[in-house]
Amino acid sequence: MPRYEYRCRTCDNTFELSRPMAQSSAPAPCPAGHDDTVKLLSAVSVGGTSTGPVPATAGGGGGGGCCGGGCCG
Ligand SMILES: [Zn+2]
Repeated sequence: MPRYEYRCRTCDNTFELSRPMAQSSAPAPCPAGHDDTVKLLSAVSVGGTSTGPVPATAGGGGGGGCCGGGCCG
């Protein structure tokens, strides 16, 4: 789960939250309870190695069953 960095404009505190990417722009309340926060554009993958897209192994339909070769009749 990616980590996002936010800054509270009320107490000028920065904090991180681990949340789904779909909620990255959702309001993140400050640990002190303030709601006036902004999301910082920090590099999420600092220090990590980006592995790129994962190849999908489930490509086709059947798994090479017998019925494809006409031996089921
Ligand atoms: Zn705050």
